Amino acid sequence: LQHRVLTDAKVLPLDGDPGGRSVIERGAVAIDGASIAWVGPADDLPDELSTWPAESMDGRLVTPALIDCHTHLVYGGNRAQEFEQRLQGATYEQIANAGGGIVSTVLETRRATKDELLKSADARLDAFVREGVGTIEIKSGYGLTQEDELKMLRVARELGARSDVDVVTTFLGAHAVPPEYAGRPESYVDEVCISALRQAASEGLVDAVDGFCESIAFDAAQISRVFTVAVELDLPVKLHAGQLSDMGAVELASSFKALSADHLEYVSEAGAAAMAQNGTVGVLLPGAFYTLRETQAPPVDMLRSAGVELAVASDCNPGSSPITSLLLAMNMACTLFGLTPMEVMAGVTRNAAKALGLASDRGSITTGMRADLAIWDAGSASELCYYAGIDMLARKIYGGSDA
Ligand SMILES: [Zn+2]
Repeated sequence: LQHRVLTDAKVLPLDGDPGGRSVIERGAVAIDGASIAWVGPADDLPDELSTWPAESMDGRLVTPALIDCHTHLVYGGNRAQEFEQRLQGATYEQIANAGGGIVSTVLETRRATKDELLKSADARLDAFVREGVGTIEIKSGYGLTQEDELKMLRVARELGARSDVDVVTTFLGAHAVPPEYAGRPESYVDEVCISALRQAASEGLVDAVDGFCESIAFDAAQISRVFTVAVELDLPVKLHAGQLSDMGAVELASSFKALSADHLEYVSEAGAAAMAQNGTVGVLLPGAFYTLRETQAPPVDMLRSAGVELAVASDCNPGSSPITSLLLAMNMACTLFGLTPMEVMAGVTRNAAKALGLASDRGSITTGMRADLAIWDAGSASELCYYAGIDMLARKIYGGSDA
């Protein structure tokens, strides 16, 4: 692998250093092999790096490659028909209770072959890659049998193996109660979810374990049983928490030192304090809030004052967030939730890496980090968040190589 210095760059290091610079105006980034060797103002470039090949960025914005830390990218079919039902006034809960919602995607995903799932997910992944996403999380959770959950995770692994992005997989067997276990969530957890998790982990298909703690899914005691197995398997956990109601999910996630608690429309001050204390990242998902036309936004001021680190993700999924643009989710996080553009940038880089357990490896432009960079035809974080639709990515570098 080569070494080189990117010069004449406007660098957003996203290093989280409160005393540090948020922007380095005439900056330079030195890359040695797959890692960042140095970053700072070009005038301060150490002598020993001045002989490395230099490439001018022509004043462009250089940020860490983006990280989408919450997606359900792999699924069969789509839910455009349900979209129409919602437009006519049906709620997400009404559709779910009538056998639509997640269950309809489960049936389509079970029917689909591995190749069909790969093909449809690949098209969606492409949309993220074109926007500078370098790492993306993909959950299972639409199979809900051992065989179909493993099928989804294998598809996710294969997507990572054959593209320029890193795919992080999450087992979400506790996503919904499948029709054959209707009214028997405990039996589903014991007979299917936990054994599927053990098998998937034994095949190296799982990086983390997630659940959906909500009245239309699983309660805290049921999620807790799955998380106990995750701990036994030495896998980190995360949780869909507080999307539609406060069931104590945030407190549960924090008590397992979860990497993240995601959604957070409904979270108490005690829940936020527990998250901050346990280092659990709050992942905000404005795409679902927007699609479901929710009215209660996450209490961002309260989360900020509690010291919760915030990430932003697309939640790409066929029902509640059919959105294949992280840039659009960034725009929505500003417009709908009141995050600042710099908070959003941290939310799709440094804090998103932390939500995936990768904070020591990527998500900021600092010495020793993986050289995953996005180079933009844009002048600021504000400009990245402000547009919806224009193609601003000029170049990308993943693991030190041009991609
Ligand atoms: Zn989700």
